[in-house]
Amino acid sequence: MAPHASDAVEQTDLTSSAMEHRIAETNGHTAAKGELDASKLTIQLADPTAREVPTPENANAGDETICTDHMITCQWKLSSGWSAPELKPYGPLSLMPTASVLHYATECFEGLKAYRGFDGKLRLFRPNLNAKRMLMSTLRISLPAFDPVELEKLILTLVATDGDKWLPASRPGSFLYIRPAMIGTQSQLGVQAPKEALLFITASYMPKLDAYPGGLKLHTNPEDMVRAWVGGFGYAKVGANYGPSLLATNEARERGYGQILWLYGPEGYCTEAGASNFFVVWRAKDTGKLQLITAPLDDRLILDGVTRRSIVELAQERLAGEVEVVERKYTIAELLEANKEGRIVEAFAAGTAYFICPVSLVHHRGEDIQIPLGKSESGQYTTKIKSWMADIMYGNEQHPWGVVASKD
Ligand SMILES: *Cc1c(COP(=O)(O)O)cnc(C)c1O
Repeated sequence: MAPHASDAVEQTDLTSSAMEHRIAETNGHTAAKGELDASKLTIQLADPTAREVPTPENANAGDETICTDHMITCQWKLSSGWSAPELKPYGPLSLMPTASVLHYATECFEGLKAYRGFDGKLRLFRPNLNAKRMLMSTLRISLPAFDPVELEKLILTLVATDGDKWLPASRPGSFLYIRPAMIGTQSQLGVQAPKEALLFITASYMPKLDAYPGGLKLHTNPEDMVRAWVGGFGYAKVGANYGPSLLATNEARERGYGQILWLYGPEGYCTEAGASNFFVVWRAKDTGKLQLITAPLDDRLILDGVTRRSIVELAQERLAGEVEVVERKYTIAELLEANKEGRIVEAFAAGTAYFICPVSLVHHRGEDIQIPLGKSESGQYTTKIKSWMADIMYGNEQHPWGVVASKD
């Protein structure tokens, strides 16, 4: 199957379901010539003494992300498909100024972490979900398809190669941040699907962001700005979603807030907190029962976070009978009302980068919603869910979501 085989399905009207066909096409196929194939990886090792591992204090002290010794790259061309992936020393990419990504935002990425367990093992957390989501994002911006299983293998190989040195067993409970990305590299101006692309994967340090002193403070977005819209691409991890959000975020930061709570539509639906999903624990207005509420996925407005999904699944399983998990649209007006009636119990932002970060305040057009933080600056449900997740990530609990990266 050619990576850009046209859809056989004939339709009178164009529909966004073309993407689902593409994803279906890439599921379950066997590796043929031109497919992404992790077994073809070529290896050029870096001089292991050339670069030093930073101390935890220095790892994020500068203005540049420190990456590990190696990266993986893989080129794609419409004419020949995927070439053999390469593991090689970390370093700059070379691009023509007319490359598609630099003009038309043909870029998407993923973010996941490699965790050094308390049992000494290196783990990824549900990397299959990141690989699948990367395929979805890729297809949304007309970059080439690939088998997500092969991407997952490449990620595991990079982590296994650099993990021992850059995430030493002497630092259990720490992590590296893995960033797979794909860009359109064809050097031709003109708005078109790129005929050349580059997949690359790096591993780097990222600060721990999961506990703001005094809790994360959110400011709702300016009235005349939205992050994403129905029919848009807010559900895809494409670079084009993030640059335009910085203006509002910077303004909020200048006023002492950490992130924007993005509302949607005249109703003011609560969607996401910065580039994290947003959860509230409250007592339901009608029944007074405890609920964990978060925005739904069905209108494809928000990113289907791996953290979000895992929290929903764990809470459904482990808080059954105590807290009901609700995925539905809810508005800022409902939050304001719940606040006035004293029904808000906890709130937190959730994503790989921020992990699970307690929220202490939401500011909306002159009104403050103060959210209790509880002992040790985190509410009891936030604390519970966070420790369940961390136990899986760091190997305190053996769980199928924790995937061990080893050299063989
Ligand atoms: C990446 C991201 C998230 C979190 O997703 P995880 O898979 O949990 O890391 C949430 N919202 C947006 C907009 C994101 O880009």
